[in-house]
Amino acid sequence: MEIFRPGDTGYDDERSGFQTGLRHEPQVIFAVENARDVEEAVRYADEHGLEHAVQTTGHGLTTTTSGVLISTKRMNGVEIDPNTKTAKVEAGAIWQQVIEQAAPHGLAPLSGDAGDVGVIGYTLGGGYSVLAREFGFASDRVRKTEKVGEVVTALEFELLDIDQVHAGEMFFDSQHAATVFEAFHKWDLPDHVTSTLATLGDVVRVTFASTKPFDIDHLRVAPNLTEEFGRKPFAEAAGKPLPPHTYQGDNVLLSDLPLDALHRVREKAANSDVPIFLSVMPLGGALDAGHLLKLISPQLGVEAQHAAVFDEVRQFVLGSARNFRYAVG
Ligand SMILES: Cc1cc2nc3c(=O)[nH]c(=O)nc-3n(C[C@H](O)[C@H](O)[C@H](O)COP(=O)(O)OP(=O)(O)OC[C@H]3O[C@@H](n4cnc5c(N)ncnc54)[C@H](O)[C@@H]3O)c2cc1C
Repeated sequence: MEIFRPGDTGYDDERSGFQTGLRHEPQVIFAVENARDVEEAVRYADEHGLEHAVQTTGHGLTTTTSGVLISTKRMNGVEIDPNTKTAKVEAGAIWQQVIEQAAPHGLAPLSGDAGDVGVIGYTLGGGYSVLAREFGFASDRVRKTEKVGEVVTALEFELLDIDQVHAGEMFFDSQHAATVFEAFHKWDLPDHVTSTLATLGDVVRVTFASTKPFDIDHLRVAPNLTEEFGRKPFAEAAGKPLPPHTYQGDNVLLSDLPLDALHRVREKAANSDVPIFLSVMPLGGALDAGHLLKLISPQLGVEAQHAAVFDEVRQFVLGSARNFRYAVG
């Protein structure tokens, strides 16, 4: 196992991740390769009275550590068992590995919209997959967990008989945002369809996926910039990796999201003095009822602006999801 301290060649690479706005400042990094290395790292932290943090990809960095960083990216074994329809992964595995190795067996995991996210970090936060309303949380499929203290060293979980999915996305110019938001809100979403409405600067994006066919005609309420919808291998619906960047984001789980409240959050986000991309995912189906509202900005220091948007739906807030908290303490 390699160990890095400040000033060592490789120290900066090892502590860097997908989030470029924040970086751990550890006294020591243990680049673990197996569970024994994790034990050694945890023991070192305990003996020296230091806190320890785990980093796989850095997608979900909330706060930084100045103690011990356990970097798991080298410990990334994935085993698929087509007979039991399960996957066993080590601490640093990412979804893309599972998707690629499961697909030849006609199997798929409940992964999300980015294949380069870590399996364990995602699953510890529940895991909202691109098929979440049809099949529930990724964490519901966990069969076995191996741990050293708080660090999960291996996870075994069920795969599903999923080969092809019906999935796609539509983009509209943001001048049509009000019309598209209204059409999305009116959608009597079948329980098997998972869909998200998002603003991304000058465009509005709607994504949808299910293993069963469904109709999107009623979303064609404005001229769309692009539309792509069809039957495809699950891997193609699983999202393309983004380059590392700086971002801050948070979310709320809502009991309800009436149309006027949806319009208010849209307007508040669009008129903020910082760029705020919002996304709304109706829950229900195999998940509890409600909505997940996420905000994300391509810069740090935007807590107040995000709070002002969340304030518009204050009376519906039930809590928040552990995933989708980025660079917030
Ligand atoms: C572009 C993007 C797309 C995303 N899409 C989705 C999505 O579709 N659905 C969804 O639910 N989430 C999604 N997320 C959120 C993501 O699941 C969380 O940010 C998750 O925490 C990332 O895990 P990671 O290991 O990749 O990140 P890291 O930053 O490396 O880890 C995040 C945290 O997870 C914990 N952790 C990681 N590994 C271990 C371990 N072995 N043992 C104990 N704790 C561990 C630690 O607390 C760590 O701080 C997305 C995030 C991004 C940035």
